[in-house]
Amino acid sequence: MQLRIPGPTPVPPHILQALSQQMINHRGPGFADIIWRVTQRLKQVFQTQGDVYILTASGTGGMEAAIVNTLSPGDKVLSVSIGFFGDRFADIAQQYGAEVERLEFEWGQAADPEMVRRALKAHPQVKAVLLTHNETSTGVTNDLGTLCSVVGEFDKLLLVDAISSLSSIDLPVDKWGCDVVVTSSQKGWMVPPGLAMVSVSPRAWQAYATAKMPRYYWDFAKARSFLEKGQTPWTPVLSVFFALDIALELLLQEGLPNVFARHARIADMVRSGIKSLGLRLFADERHASNTVTAVANPDGLDNKQFLKVLREQYDVVLSGGQQRLEGKIFRIGHLGWVEDKDVAEVIGGIKSALDKLGFKTGVSAR
Ligand SMILES: *Cc1c(COP(=O)(O)O)cnc(C)c1O
Repeated sequence: MQLRIPGPTPVPPHILQALSQQMINHRGPGFADIIWRVTQRLKQVFQTQGDVYILTASGTGGMEAAIVNTLSPGDKVLSVSIGFFGDRFADIAQQYGAEVERLEFEWGQAADPEMVRRALKAHPQVKAVLLTHNETSTGVTNDLGTLCSVVGEFDKLLLVDAISSLSSIDLPVDKWGCDVVVTSSQKGWMVPPGLAMVSVSPRAWQAYATAKMPRYYWDFAKARSFLEKGQTPWTPVLSVFFALDIALELLLQEGLPNVFARHARIADMVRSGIKSLGLRLFADERHASNTVTAVANPDGLDNKQFLKVLREQYDVVLSGGQQRLEGKIFRIGHLGWVEDKDVAEVIGGIKSALDKLGFKTGVSAR
């Protein structure tokens, strides 16, 4: 089966085996060895000298942690959203009482750094900026390096959702000055859902010292003091820890530049495969993501029917569109454990399913 949704992603057999390991004492020396090793390796992938904490949560828990540990109710926040997950980040901040200024871009487009600069000039009271590195709902990767340098001109706290990019697309956290960066295990990390990983810069710790949003489970200071003992404050999802330990070994063995290059190459193959079928990419191609490709549905295609035929008859599982993009696009995840042969199978499956439904594929089909 080709599970090609933008998370959960397939898990290599070697890592699957780690998941069947017997439970251990999460307050014992065996777990301390694992969490210290995993944290050190995560720092290499985050490219940071700062702190990295591992929370038992899906990605959204990590986003919530980023907000409640650095902000107070009433703080002004600039949310830069290019899609569904950008909106979610803003919603979380709003729910906890932040005053959210929303800068929104058309879905399918990247954020324009000049507009961000203007918004920051217009709203000098802004304390933090919320950015999405890779917008999974639209298949767009923001030019995060440039956006970070714009935010840097104003010396604001920078909170980044890199859930579907970190470990697959280059994100040098320290170099770009990101204060809290969030990712989660079921995306590019080749492990099951269950862990959110967050980096915390010295400046984020300064913000923590005065931040008054309510927090308990997500409290970074608790995570810090328990990590010193080789533990987490609450019982961690041990099995996913075992898996992440092996996955990080594989990632670092392949080498980060090679991992990024593989994702770029595969994404390129996916995009040209889609175009060769006469289909249209949804995202602005200058900012097309290397981890997820959104494809505009051809006119008259019943999206649900198409995904069903693809799944039942060709063993390829893809995602539809979210919220306002429901029925308008379908999405192919190509992150984590993905190789050239997978692309051929997915594109072949799409072609067969479209043929079956009477849609002419090929350059003439638009
Ligand atoms: C997957 C994802 C999330 C979080 O989703 P969870 O279901 O909570 O793991 C948030 N942002 C982006 C960009 C994502 O891709």
